[in-house]
Amino acid sequence: MPHIPRITLKQGKEKPLLRGHPWVFSGAVAKIEGDISPGDMGEVYSKDGQFLGTGYVNPLSQIVFRLLGQEKLRSLDHLVRGRISRAASLRESWFRGKTNAYRLVNGEGDFLPGLVLDCYGETLVLQVSTAGMERLKPVLIETLVRDFHPRTIFERSDVPTRKEEGLPETVGHLYGKEITDRVDIEEYGCRFRVDLRKGQKTGFYLDQRENRFSIREQCTGKRILDCFCYTGAFSVHAGVGKAAKITLIDSSKEALEAARQHLELNSLGSLCHEEIQGDAFEVMRALSSDYDLIILDPPPFAKKKSHVFSASRGYKDLNLHAFRLLKEDGLLLTFCCSHHVSPDLFQKIVFSAAVDARKSVQVLARLGHPLDHPVNLSHPEGEYLKGFLCKVL
Ligand code: SAH
Repeated sequence: MPHIPRITLKQGKEKPLLRGHPWVFSGAVAKIEGDISPGDMGEVYSKDGQFLGTGYVNPLSQIVFRLLGQEKLRSLDHLVRGRISRAASLRESWFRGKTNAYRLVNGEGDFLPGLVLDCYGETLVLQVSTAGMERLKPVLIETLVRDFHPRTIFERSDVPTRKEEGLPETVGHLYGKEITDRVDIEEYGCRFRVDLRKGQKTGFYLDQRENRFSIREQCTGKRILDCFCYTGAFSVHAGVGKAAKITLIDSSKEALEAARQHLELNSLGSLCHEEIQGDAFEVMRALSSDYDLIILDPPPFAKKKSHVFSASRGYKDLNLHAFRLLKEDGLLLTFCCSHHVSPDLFQKIVFSAAVDARKSVQVLARLGHPLDHPVNLSHPEGEYLKGFLCKVL
Protein backbone atom coordinates (compact mmCIF):
# COMPACT_ATOMS: atom_id res chain seq x y z
CA MET A 1 0.00 0.00 0.00
CA PRO A 2 1.49 3.41 -0.92
CA HIS A 3 2.49 5.67 1.91
CA ILE A 4 -0.23 8.29 2.35
CA PRO A 5 0.73 11.55 4.10
CA ARG A 6 -1.07 12.03 7.37
CA ILE A 7 -2.34 15.35 8.71
CA THR A 8 -3.17 15.62 12.40
CA LEU A 9 -5.43 18.43 13.52
CA LYS A 10 -5.21 20.52 16.67
CA GLN A 11 -7.55 19.70 19.53
CA GLY A 12 -11.21 20.40 18.65
CA LYS A 13 -10.50 21.30 15.02
CA GLU A 14 -12.12 18.12 13.70
CA LYS A 15 -15.67 19.43 14.19
CA PRO A 16 -16.15 21.14 10.80
CA LEU A 17 -14.88 18.03 8.97
CA LEU A 18 -17.14 15.77 11.00
CA ARG A 19 -20.05 18.00 9.92
CA GLY A 20 -19.04 17.62 6.28
CA HIS A 21 -17.15 20.86 5.66
CA PRO A 22 -14.49 19.91 3.10
CA TRP A 23 -11.70 22.39 3.99
CA VAL A 24 -8.89 22.30 6.54
CA PHE A 25 -7.08 25.61 7.05
CA SER A 26 -3.38 25.68 7.90
CA GLY A 27 -4.13 27.14 11.36
CA ALA A 28 -6.04 23.97 12.31
CA VAL A 29 -3.11 21.62 11.64
CA ALA A 30 -0.94 20.29 14.49
CA LYS A 31 1.44 18.20 12.38
CA ILE A 32 1.99 16.69 8.97
CA GLU A 33 3.78 13.35 8.68
CA GLY A 34 5.44 12.34 5.44
CA ASP A 35 6.77 14.45 2.57
CA ILE A 36 3.97 16.30 0.91
CA SER A 37 3.88 18.09 -2.42
CA PRO A 38 1.01 20.19 -3.72
CA GLY A 39 -1.74 17.91 -4.93
CA ASP A 40 -0.74 14.71 -3.11
CA MET A 41 -3.43 12.51 -1.69
CA GLY A 42 -3.64 12.71 2.10
CA GLU A 43 -5.49 11.49 5.18
CA VAL A 44 -6.66 13.63 8.04
CA TYR A 45 -6.87 12.63 11.72
CA SER A 46 -8.09 14.28 14.90
CA LYS A 47 -5.70 15.04 17.78
CA ASP A 48 -6.90 11.78 19.39
CA GLY A 49 -5.98 9.78 16.31
CA GLN A 50 -9.52 9.37 14.94
CA PHE A 51 -9.51 8.94 11.14
CA LEU A 52 -11.60 11.73 9.56
CA GLY A 53 -11.22 11.35 5.84
CA THR A 54 -9.25 11.18 2.62
CA GLY A 55 -8.59 14.01 0.24
CA TYR A 56 -5.73 15.98 -1.22
CA VAL A 57 -3.20 18.32 0.32
CA ASN A 58 -1.42 21.52 -0.61
CA PRO A 59 1.16 22.94 1.81
CA LEU A 60 1.33 26.13 -0.30
CA SER A 61 -2.31 27.00 0.17
CA GLN A 62 -4.09 28.37 3.23
CA ILE A 63 -6.49 25.49 2.67
CA VAL A 64 -3.99 22.69 3.26
CA PHE A 65 -6.44 19.83 2.89
CA ARG A 66 -9.64 19.29 0.92
CA LEU A 67 -11.83 16.36 1.83
CA LEU A 68 -13.16 14.02 -0.81
CA GLY A 69 -14.32 11.00 1.14
CA GLN A 70 -14.92 9.92 4.71
CA GLU A 71 -13.47 6.50 3.99
CA LYS A 72 -9.90 5.19 3.61
CA LEU A 73 -8.91 5.06 -0.05
CA ARG A 74 -5.91 3.80 -2.03
CA SER A 75 -6.47 6.30 -4.82
CA LEU A 76 -8.92 9.09 -5.56
CA ASP A 77 -9.54 8.02 -9.16
CA HIS A 78 -12.50 5.74 -8.58
CA LEU A 79 -14.22 8.18 -6.24
CA VAL A 80 -13.82 11.05 -8.71
CA ARG A 81 -15.27 8.97 -11.56
CA GLY A 82 -18.27 8.06 -9.41
CA ARG A 83 -18.89 11.65 -8.36
CA ILE A 84 -18.82 12.88 -11.98
CA SER A 85 -21.31 10.25 -13.04
CA ARG A 86 -23.57 11.10 -10.07
CA ALA A 87 -23.40 14.81 -10.96
CA ALA A 88 -24.25 14.06 -14.58
CA SER A 89 -27.30 11.94 -13.78
CA LEU A 90 -28.70 14.75 -11.60
CA ARG A 91 -28.57 17.12 -14.56
CA GLU A 92 -29.75 14.72 -17.28
CA SER A 93 -33.23 14.27 -15.94
CA TRP A 94 -33.75 18.00 -15.35
CA PHE A 95 -32.32 19.52 -18.48
CA ARG A 96 -33.13 17.04 -21.25
CA GLY A 97 -35.01 18.94 -23.95
CA LYS A 98 -34.66 22.30 -22.17
CA THR A 99 -31.06 23.27 -22.70
CA ASN A 100 -27.79 21.78 -23.89
CA ALA A 101 -25.70 24.20 -21.81
CA TYR A 102 -25.38 23.60 -18.11
CA ARG A 103 -22.90 23.09 -15.29
CA LEU A 104 -22.08 19.41 -15.09
CA VAL A 105 -19.91 19.67 -11.96
CA ASN A 106 -20.04 22.53 -9.47
CA GLY A 107 -16.96 22.06 -7.29
CA GLU A 108 -17.67 21.57 -3.59
CA GLY A 109 -21.40 21.61 -4.37
CA ASP A 110 -20.92 18.26 -6.15
CA PHE A 111 -18.36 17.05 -3.59
CA LEU A 112 -15.53 17.62 -6.08
CA PRO A 113 -13.51 20.51 -4.66
CA GLY A 114 -11.47 22.40 -7.23
CA LEU A 115 -13.44 21.22 -10.26
CA VAL A 116 -15.94 23.05 -12.42
CA LEU A 117 -17.14 21.37 -15.55
CA ASP A 118 -19.50 23.08 -17.96
CA CYS A 119 -21.28 21.46 -20.86
CA TYR A 120 -21.86 23.53 -24.02
CA GLY A 121 -23.53 21.11 -26.43
CA GLU A 122 -20.84 18.64 -27.50
CA THR A 123 -18.06 20.68 -25.94
CA LEU A 124 -16.99 20.32 -22.33
CA VAL A 125 -15.17 23.12 -20.55
CA LEU A 126 -12.97 22.18 -17.62
CA GLN A 127 -11.92 24.62 -14.92
CA VAL A 128 -9.45 23.35 -12.35
CA SER A 129 -8.59 25.58 -9.41
CA THR A 130 -6.52 23.38 -7.06
CA ALA A 131 -3.28 21.40 -7.24
CA GLY A 132 -5.12 18.25 -6.12
CA MET A 133 -7.58 18.45 -9.00
CA GLU A 134 -4.75 19.36 -11.38
CA ARG A 135 -3.09 16.07 -10.43
CA LEU A 136 -6.36 14.28 -11.28
CA LYS A 137 -6.64 15.88 -14.72
CA PRO A 138 -5.64 12.73 -16.69
CA VAL A 139 -8.35 10.76 -14.84
CA LEU A 140 -10.87 13.53 -15.46
CA ILE A 141 -10.16 13.65 -19.19
CA GLU A 142 -10.22 9.86 -19.52
CA THR A 143 -13.56 9.72 -17.65
CA LEU A 144 -15.12 12.49 -19.71
CA VAL A 145 -14.05 10.94 -23.00
CA ARG A 146 -15.30 7.49 -21.98
CA ASP A 147 -18.62 8.56 -20.44
CA PHE A 148 -19.67 11.62 -22.46
CA HIS A 149 -17.98 11.22 -25.87
CA PRO A 150 -17.41 14.96 -26.23
CA ARG A 151 -16.38 16.48 -29.52
CA THR A 152 -13.99 18.80 -27.66
CA ILE A 153 -12.66 19.31 -24.15
CA PHE A 154 -11.42 22.85 -23.58
CA GLU A 155 -9.73 24.21 -20.48
CA ARG A 156 -10.58 27.58 -18.90
CA SER A 157 -8.44 27.40 -15.77
CA ASP A 158 -7.80 31.13 -15.81
CA VAL A 159 -8.92 31.71 -12.24
CA PRO A 160 -6.82 33.92 -9.94
CA THR A 161 -7.14 31.42 -7.05
CA ARG A 162 -4.76 29.07 -8.89
CA LYS A 163 -1.93 31.37 -7.87
CA GLU A 164 -2.57 30.55 -4.21
CA GLU A 165 -2.18 26.88 -5.14
CA GLY A 166 1.15 27.48 -6.90
CA LEU A 167 -0.40 26.91 -10.32
CA PRO A 168 -0.21 29.11 -13.44
CA GLU A 169 -3.43 30.20 -15.15
CA THR A 170 -4.05 28.12 -18.23
CA VAL A 171 -6.44 28.25 -21.18
CA GLY A 172 -6.37 25.84 -24.09
CA HIS A 173 -7.34 22.76 -26.00
CA LEU A 174 -7.32 19.45 -24.10
CA TYR A 175 -9.01 16.86 -26.31
CA GLY A 176 -10.78 16.30 -29.62
CA LYS A 177 -11.54 18.79 -32.33
CA GLU A 178 -10.04 22.24 -31.83
CA ILE A 179 -12.58 25.02 -31.41
CA THR A 180 -12.05 27.65 -34.05
CA ASP A 181 -15.20 29.72 -33.53
CA ARG A 182 -17.95 30.43 -31.04
CA VAL A 183 -19.96 27.40 -29.91
CA ASP A 184 -23.72 27.20 -30.53
CA ILE A 185 -25.98 26.45 -27.60
CA GLU A 186 -29.73 26.42 -27.00
CA GLU A 187 -31.47 27.52 -23.80
CA TYR A 188 -35.25 27.13 -23.59
CA GLY A 189 -35.49 27.61 -27.35
CA CYS A 190 -33.16 30.65 -27.43
CA ARG A 191 -29.96 30.34 -29.41
CA PHE A 192 -26.60 31.74 -28.34
CA ARG A 193 -23.06 31.62 -29.74
CA VAL A 194 -20.63 31.37 -26.85
CA ASP A 195 -17.01 32.49 -26.89
CA LEU A 196 -15.40 29.73 -24.81
CA ARG A 197 -11.90 31.18 -25.16
CA LYS A 198 -12.49 34.72 -23.99
CA GLY A 199 -16.03 34.91 -22.64
CA GLN A 200 -16.63 35.63 -18.97
CA LYS A 201 -16.71 32.68 -16.54
CA THR A 202 -16.37 29.69 -18.90
CA GLY A 203 -18.13 31.68 -21.63
CA PHE A 204 -21.71 32.17 -20.48
CA TYR A 205 -23.68 32.94 -17.31
CA LEU A 206 -25.24 29.50 -16.96
CA ASP A 207 -26.23 30.35 -13.37
CA GLN A 208 -28.89 32.83 -14.56
CA ARG A 209 -30.66 30.46 -16.96
CA GLU A 210 -33.80 29.82 -14.93
CA ASN A 211 -34.07 33.46 -13.86
CA ARG A 212 -33.92 34.57 -17.50
CA PHE A 213 -36.60 32.09 -18.45
CA SER A 214 -38.77 33.04 -15.48
CA ILE A 215 -39.36 36.61 -16.69
CA ARG A 216 -40.20 35.75 -20.28
CA GLU A 217 -43.95 35.69 -19.79
CA GLN A 218 -43.86 39.02 -17.97
CA CYS A 219 -42.32 40.89 -20.91
CA THR A 220 -45.19 41.04 -23.40
CA GLY A 221 -45.70 44.61 -24.62
CA LYS A 222 -43.28 45.91 -21.96
CA ARG A 223 -40.48 48.43 -22.03
CA ILE A 224 -37.36 46.63 -20.66
CA LEU A 225 -34.07 47.96 -19.31
CA ASP A 226 -31.36 45.28 -19.22
CA CYS A 227 -28.46 46.65 -17.14
CA PHE A 228 -25.13 44.79 -17.18
CA CYS A 229 -26.52 42.86 -20.14
CA TYR A 230 -23.24 41.10 -21.15
CA THR A 231 -24.11 39.17 -24.34
CA GLY A 232 -27.82 39.95 -24.03
CA ALA A 233 -29.16 36.66 -22.68
CA PHE A 234 -31.89 38.29 -20.54
CA SER A 235 -32.85 40.53 -23.48
CA VAL A 236 -33.19 37.58 -25.86
CA HIS A 237 -35.61 35.90 -23.44
CA ALA A 238 -37.47 39.21 -23.06
CA GLY A 239 -37.64 39.53 -26.85
CA VAL A 240 -39.00 36.00 -27.22
CA GLY A 241 -41.55 37.03 -24.59
CA LYS A 242 -42.63 39.83 -27.00
CA ALA A 243 -41.20 42.86 -25.21
CA ALA A 244 -42.13 46.15 -26.89
CA LYS A 245 -38.73 47.80 -26.56
CA ILE A 246 -35.44 46.85 -24.90
CA THR A 247 -32.59 49.10 -23.77
CA LEU A 248 -29.33 47.24 -23.16
CA ILE A 249 -26.51 48.72 -21.06
CA ASP A 250 -22.99 47.34 -20.66
CA SER A 251 -19.54 48.84 -20.33
CA SER A 252 -18.12 46.38 -22.86
CA LYS A 253 -18.40 47.16 -26.56
CA GLU A 254 -17.74 43.50 -27.48
CA ALA A 255 -20.49 42.31 -25.13
CA LEU A 256 -23.01 44.71 -26.70
CA GLU A 257 -21.96 43.63 -30.18
CA ALA A 258 -22.53 39.98 -29.19
CA ALA A 259 -25.90 40.96 -27.66
CA ARG A 260 -27.00 42.54 -30.95
CA GLN A 261 -25.92 39.40 -32.83
CA HIS A 262 -27.86 37.25 -30.38
CA LEU A 263 -31.03 39.25 -30.98
CA GLU A 264 -30.56 38.74 -34.72
CA LEU A 265 -29.79 35.04 -34.30
CA ASN A 266 -33.15 34.69 -32.55
CA SER A 267 -35.03 36.56 -35.31
CA LEU A 268 -35.38 39.57 -33.02
CA GLY A 269 -33.32 41.96 -35.16
CA SER A 270 -36.41 44.00 -36.00
CA LEU A 271 -37.38 44.34 -32.33
CA CYS A 272 -37.13 47.95 -31.18
CA HIS A 273 -33.96 48.08 -29.13
CA GLU A 274 -31.06 50.34 -28.27
CA GLU A 275 -27.60 49.54 -26.97
CA ILE A 276 -25.85 51.94 -24.63
CA GLN A 277 -22.17 51.46 -23.91
CA GLY A 278 -21.12 53.00 -20.62
CA ASP A 279 -21.03 52.83 -16.86
CA ALA A 280 -24.47 51.63 -15.77
CA PHE A 281 -24.45 53.96 -12.74
CA GLU A 282 -23.99 57.01 -14.95
CA VAL A 283 -26.21 55.86 -17.78
CA MET A 284 -29.10 55.10 -15.41
CA ARG A 285 -28.72 58.48 -13.73
CA ALA A 286 -29.34 60.16 -17.10
CA LEU A 287 -32.38 58.07 -18.10
CA SER A 288 -35.98 59.05 -17.42
CA SER A 289 -38.57 56.94 -15.68
CA ASP A 290 -40.12 55.01 -18.44
CA TYR A 291 -39.58 51.32 -17.76
CA ASP A 292 -41.93 48.44 -16.98
CA LEU A 293 -39.20 45.92 -16.13
CA ILE A 294 -35.60 46.54 -15.10
CA ILE A 295 -32.94 43.84 -14.82
CA LEU A 296 -29.91 44.53 -12.62
CA ASP A 297 -27.28 41.82 -12.89
CA PRO A 298 -24.00 43.50 -11.93
CA PRO A 299 -20.62 41.79 -11.49
CA PRO A 300 -19.57 40.99 -7.89
CA PHE A 301 -18.75 44.27 -6.13
CA ALA A 302 -17.40 42.54 -2.99
CA LYS A 303 -14.72 40.02 -3.88
CA LYS A 304 -13.39 40.17 -0.29
CA LYS A 305 -15.07 40.57 3.07
CA SER A 306 -13.40 43.95 3.49
CA HIS A 307 -15.23 45.21 0.38
CA VAL A 308 -18.72 44.62 1.78
CA PHE A 309 -19.30 48.18 2.97
CA SER A 310 -18.39 49.90 -0.31
CA ALA A 311 -20.13 47.14 -2.28
CA SER A 312 -23.33 47.73 -0.31
CA ARG A 313 -23.28 51.38 -1.31
CA GLY A 314 -22.85 50.36 -4.94
CA TYR A 315 -25.76 47.92 -4.82
CA LYS A 316 -27.91 50.49 -3.05
CA ASP A 317 -27.19 53.18 -5.65
CA LEU A 318 -28.06 50.85 -8.50
CA ASN A 319 -31.32 49.73 -6.92
CA LEU A 320 -32.21 53.30 -6.07
CA HIS A 321 -31.74 54.33 -9.71
CA ALA A 322 -33.81 51.35 -10.82
CA PHE A 323 -36.72 52.14 -8.47
CA ARG A 324 -36.73 55.73 -9.76
CA LEU A 325 -36.81 54.58 -13.38
CA LEU A 326 -39.70 52.17 -12.96
CA LYS A 327 -43.24 53.09 -13.95
CA GLU A 328 -46.19 52.35 -11.70
CA ASP A 329 -46.62 48.59 -11.24
CA GLY A 330 -43.14 48.07 -12.72
CA LEU A 331 -41.02 45.02 -11.99
CA LEU A 332 -37.43 44.92 -10.79
CA LEU A 333 -35.31 41.82 -11.16
CA THR A 334 -32.29 42.56 -9.00
CA PHE A 335 -29.26 40.35 -8.30
CA CYS A 336 -26.12 40.23 -6.23
CA CYS A 337 -23.48 37.59 -6.92
CA SER A 338 -21.05 38.57 -4.14
CA HIS A 339 -20.75 35.69 -1.69
CA HIS A 340 -19.79 38.11 1.10
CA VAL A 341 -23.10 39.97 0.82
CA SER A 342 -25.61 37.66 2.51
CA PRO A 343 -29.20 37.32 1.27
CA ASP A 344 -30.29 39.10 4.44
CA LEU A 345 -27.94 42.03 3.85
CA PHE A 346 -28.97 42.22 0.20
CA GLN A 347 -32.61 42.41 1.24
CA LYS A 348 -31.75 45.28 3.59
CA ILE A 349 -29.90 47.07 0.78
CA VAL A 350 -32.84 46.75 -1.61
CA PHE A 351 -35.19 47.86 1.18
CA SER A 352 -33.16 50.98 1.93
CA ALA A 353 -33.02 51.82 -1.80
CA ALA A 354 -36.84 51.54 -1.93
CA VAL A 355 -37.18 53.81 1.11
CA ASP A 356 -34.91 56.46 -0.43
CA ALA A 357 -36.78 56.23 -3.72
CA ARG A 358 -40.07 56.61 -1.79
CA LYS A 359 -41.55 53.51 -3.36
CA SER A 360 -43.71 50.84 -1.80
CA VAL A 361 -42.29 47.54 -2.95
CA GLN A 362 -43.49 43.94 -2.86
CA VAL A 363 -41.11 40.99 -3.05
CA LEU A 364 -42.74 38.55 -5.47
CA ALA A 365 -39.94 35.97 -5.55
CA ARG A 366 -36.58 35.20 -4.02
CA LEU A 367 -34.14 33.94 -6.57
CA GLY A 368 -30.84 32.10 -6.52
CA HIS A 369 -28.83 29.30 -8.02
CA PRO A 370 -30.35 26.84 -10.45
CA LEU A 371 -30.02 23.16 -9.66
CA ASP A 372 -26.95 22.66 -11.82
CA HIS A 373 -25.16 24.92 -9.31
CA PRO A 374 -25.88 22.93 -6.14
CA VAL A 375 -24.47 24.05 -2.82
CA ASN A 376 -23.15 21.58 -0.24
CA LEU A 377 -25.16 22.41 2.89
CA SER A 378 -21.99 21.95 4.95
CA HIS A 379 -20.15 24.45 2.72
CA PRO A 380 -22.14 27.70 2.66
CA GLU A 381 -19.13 29.41 1.04
CA GLY A 382 -20.41 27.89 -2.21
CA GLU A 383 -23.48 30.11 -2.16
CA TYR A 384 -23.19 33.40 -4.02
CA LEU A 385 -26.15 34.27 -6.25
CA LYS A 386 -29.19 35.91 -4.68
CA GLY A 387 -31.91 38.03 -6.16
CA PHE A 388 -35.42 39.40 -5.82
CA LEU A 389 -38.25 39.91 -8.20
CA CYS A 390 -39.93 43.05 -6.87
CA LYS A 391 -43.01 45.01 -7.87
CA VAL A 392 -43.41 48.71 -7.16
CA LEU A 393 -46.72 50.31 -6.32
N1 SAH B 1 -26.84 39.38 -17.24
C1 SAH B 1 -25.75 38.78 -17.96
C2 SAH B 1 -24.47 38.66 -17.14
C3 SAH B 1 -23.94 39.97 -16.59
S1 SAH B 1 -22.24 39.90 -16.23
C4 SAH B 1 -26.20 37.42 -18.51
O1 SAH B 1 -27.24 36.88 -18.07
O2 SAH B 1 -25.51 36.88 -19.37
C5 SAH B 1 -21.84 41.51 -15.78
C6 SAH B 1 -21.65 42.47 -16.95
O3 SAH B 1 -21.47 43.76 -16.37
C7 SAH B 1 -20.43 42.24 -17.86
O4 SAH B 1 -20.85 42.13 -19.18
C8 SAH B 1 -19.57 43.51 -17.69
O5 SAH B 1 -19.01 43.95 -18.92
C9 SAH B 1 -20.59 44.50 -17.22
N2 SAH B 1 -20.11 45.62 -16.39
C10 SAH B 1 -19.21 45.61 -15.39
N3 SAH B 1 -19.14 46.82 -14.79
C11 SAH B 1 -20.02 47.62 -15.42
C12 SAH B 1 -20.45 48.98 -15.26
N4 SAH B 1 -19.93 49.74 -14.30
N5 SAH B 1 -21.40 49.45 -16.07
C13 SAH B 1 -21.95 48.68 -17.06
N6 SAH B 1 -21.59 47.40 -17.25
C14 SAH B 1 -20.65 46.86 -16.45
